Amino acid sequence: MKAFAVNLPPMEPLNEKTIRASFINCSKGEASRISLPRGLAELPWEHLDFLGWRDPGAPDRGYLVAERENGYIGLSMRVPVGLRRSLLRTSICSVCLTMHGGSGVSLFAARRAGVAGREGNTVGQYLCTDLACSLYLRGKKQPVIGGRIEESLTLDELVVRARTNLEQFIDQILHGSKS
Ligand SMILES: [Zn+2]
Repeated sequence: MKAFAVNLPPMEPLNEKTIRASFINCSKGEASRISLPRGLAELPWEHLDFLGWRDPGAPDRGYLVAERENGYIGLSMRVPVGLRRSLLRTSICSVCLTMHGGSGVSLFAARRAGVAGREGNTVGQYLCTDLACSLYLRGKKQPVIGGRIEESLTLDELVVRARTNLEQFIDQILHGSKS
């Protein structure tokens, strides 16, 4: 069984035009107004499986852009703000499986693409609040409180699993949950 590929290529650096054109679950108008991460060219692309960011000017939003076979898929998501969570209570990110205490994990709600989304259908997913899953996986960033479960997987295997988890989330937004 060959469950995992190896030597996954990192993300290609993306430019503003590509990022804005990638959004599938918001209007073109909204996509044109989203505040993009500063210093796009200087981001650590070689360590990223997807581009995720928060906008300090719009704390109830989160954004991510991931590569798919047919190009890039961008998601605009809503995040509840002002929730105070106990630092002692840990939650786990459903993409990278990093555990965080307090508000280090948030429930992101993404409107589904197309008609379903316009009718108000959303898909929710627990993700690292800062959307820095790629950096936690690689040990480039540590949770303020929390950590990673010791696993006997290689980094490539962890990356494949995280990308697969993200793919499933995106599939639900594109096509609805399989039930
Ligand atoms: Zn994560």
